[in-house]
Amino acid sequence: MARDRIPTLGSRIATLDTRKAKPLPKKADPHYQTAEHEEWAEFVKRRAGYRCEHVDDGKRCWRSAEKGYRMYADHIKDIKDRPDLALDRDNGRCACSSHNVRAGIQARANRMKS
Ligand SMILES: [Zn+2]
Repeated sequence: MARDRIPTLGSRIATLDTRKAKPLPKKADPHYQTAEHEEWAEFVKRRAGYRCEHVDDGKRCWRSAEKGYRMYADHIKDIKDRPDLALDRDNGRCACSSHNVRAGIQARANRMKS
């Protein structure tokens, strides 16, 4: 019986990434480098008081610029899905880095589903 389990050990070890050079991050959308985006992002963050606006289980995230966290302006509807809302202030949300990353992953996952 115990023998049946042995092959599963190999797959766990294989997930370790031993590459010395990691692939380069994907090139950012050029929109993020524009002055218009910069202005939009600043507005969104200032409106939120530089506090993360994400809510998990009914509790607002506690991270803020005041507490030393870098804040990001996040598109509620990803601009890959809705490029027309890229500069819509109602489509902006202030996010800490972990919520910003999570939102990006979620948007990608939703795109793959559709
Ligand atoms: Zn957060």
